[in-house]
Order: sequence, then C-alpha cells, then structure tokens
Amino acid sequence: MSGLLRGNSPISKTYADCSGCSLCLLVCPVWRRTCDIELTPHGRSKALQNDVRPADMTISIQSCTLCGACEPVCPERINLTDMVLDLRRTLGPPPGFPTSAPESRAGLQPISSAPLLLRDRALAANPEVLNHTATLLGGVMMAGDDGSDIALALEAGAEISPQRLENFLTSLRRSAKLIVADGLLLRHLARWLPGAPLVSLGEALSGLPEVRNSLRATDLYVIEPRAYHADYQRLVKYYDGLRAARACAFNLDLQRIAIPPSAPNLMQRLGLAPQDNDGQACWILHGRRISRIVVERYEDRTAFENVSDIPVMYLADLTEAGAC
Ligand code: SF4
Ligand code: SF4
Repeated sequence: MSGLLRGNSPISKTYADCSGCSLCLLVCPVWRRTCDIELTPHGRSKALQNDVRPADMTISIQSCTLCGACEPVCPERINLTDMVLDLRRTLGPPPGFPTSAPESRAGLQPISSAPLLLRDRALAANPEVLNHTATLLGGVMMAGDDGSDIALALEAGAEISPQRLENFLTSLRRSAKLIVADGLLLRHLARWLPGAPLVSLGEALSGLPEVRNSLRATDLYVIEPRAYHADYQRLVKYYDGLRAARACAFNLDLQRIAIPPSAPNLMQRLGLAPQDNDGQACWILHGRRISRIVVERYEDRTAFENVSDIPVMYLADLTEAGAC
C-alpha cells in the first residue's frame, strides 16, 4: 500500500493561516529565480488575506512550478500546491490552451494482475524510451488510458468532466500496482483512489537491483520533485536508504527538499511560451565533484545538458555494466 500523503500530518489550513514567516522562500525555485515575493506562497497568501482578486495575481499563479517543495517546510502546514491549483481553476486555463482537453483513450484497461505503467508527456513523445522503460520494469502493462489529458487539465486549471474522471479511475481500480510517471497525477491519484498501490516511476526504477546497483558514488541522482514532495516523509526515508546503499549525491538541500532542475512557468510548461535557462540546474551543480548526472524524469536531461558537459543519463538507461 502506498504511503502517499498518509505520512504527513493532515493539511487543511489555507492562505488565511499564513503567518508571513517566509520559510517557503528558502526552497522555492521561483523565488530563487526572481527574488519577487509576489511570486511566492508568502506573497500569494498575503495578497489573498488582503482581498486581492485572483485575476490580479495571474502572473504569480502561473509562475508556480507545482514542485511542492514549499509544503514540507511551511510551519503552518498550508496545502500550498492545492492553493495554486484552486487559483488556476478560478482563473481558467490560459489563452492558447485547448478549450476541451483531448480525452485520451477513455475506457477500461485489460484486466490483469500485472502492474500498470502510466506514462507522462515526455515518455509518450519518445516511444522507444517508453518501451525500454516498460521492458526494464518487467511484466508491466502500458496503460491504454494514461490520464495525460487529466494531468494537463490539472496543471492548467481546466475543467475535468466528472464522467471522464470516473472512466479513468474505473480503468485503474483493478490494477495490482500503478506506476505513475507524472508527479502531479500521482498526487491526485493518491486522493482519488485511497489505498491504491501507487508508486512513482522514479521509485519503481530505482528499486530494481540492476538499476540501483549501477549507481556510482560519483553520480548526482536527480529526484523528480513533484512525486517526492507529495509523499515527503516516506520518501525521505526511501532516498536515505538509496544514498546509504550507493553513496551518490542527490538534488536535496539541507532540509532534504528536492531542488527542481528548472522552473518553467505554466505557459512554458504548456509550450505556449519559450523555455529559458533559469539557472536552477547550474545552482544544483555548483561546487559538486560528480562524473555523471542520473535523472528520474526523462524530460530533466535537457536542463543539465544545456548548462554542463557532464554526461546525463535517464534512470532507465543505467545497467549493471555501468556499475563500478
Ligand atoms: S510549489 Fe514550488 S514553485 Fe510553487 S510556490 Fe511552492 S516551492 Fe515555489
Ligand atoms: S512558509 Fe507557510 S506560513 Fe510561512 S510565509 Fe510561507 S506560506 Fe506563509
């Protein structure tokens, strides 16, 4: 059974409970990039406490990467990711977002006791990598309906029809195990399917002996932040075990918050604005002596390749042959 969200104290507070302590700034990639307090949880909470309308906070609401890093550090236990998602739903999706999100392959999955793999957008766009990942996981079935339209709608604040959501969830309910590549979808599935056997793709891959044993002490292992922060207390222990076993470095700060390698705003993430080098990857690499970067999320390779000559590998491409 997954420990998603269950290891944390109940989070039910809202922006009204924000004390203005600013601890969220310490871990927020948007603050690191902009030093603009209006683009932080602190800034949004204080604005809402002062009756600023969401429409007047659009840039701030779209700036959040939904990495979830601010939640474990907030002493008031405010559900800061949900706060942004609620505000995005209030605003509605940005111009350029399809008015009706494509409904991907609605319908039931084949009945099977095999684990089901739900790909993310990057893996869907790279079928060879996806097939290799599935083969490595051994005996998994590829989800016919991976909920990619739902993940996209969540991100953008678009409406999700109850029927569409129910079709998707029904198709998952009989699965013995769900391996989910999209961290935001994983966070929501933990609520929509309480008790479901959920695991992130990064955790599933790093748990394979042939992958795990290929990690070197001189590797930087880059955790996917969304899934990690959604299940922070359990996964801190999991990755501590991985560090003890393989001695590699991680993209974790002193509070063991996972630092994202880039900080795209909503428009950039949706492909509606050009990406730029926001310096996150440089900051993660600064001062490290590493020979290889290993990323859990296929998409994260680019952020490091753009700023460094250090070889970058996707986790599923590690093999025993790479061990030392
Ligand atoms: S989710 Fe990430 S980007 Fe958004 S406010 Fe929190 S730390 Fe900043
Ligand atoms: S850490 Fe929490 S309480 Fe402190 S400023 Fe940020 S949102 Fe407000």
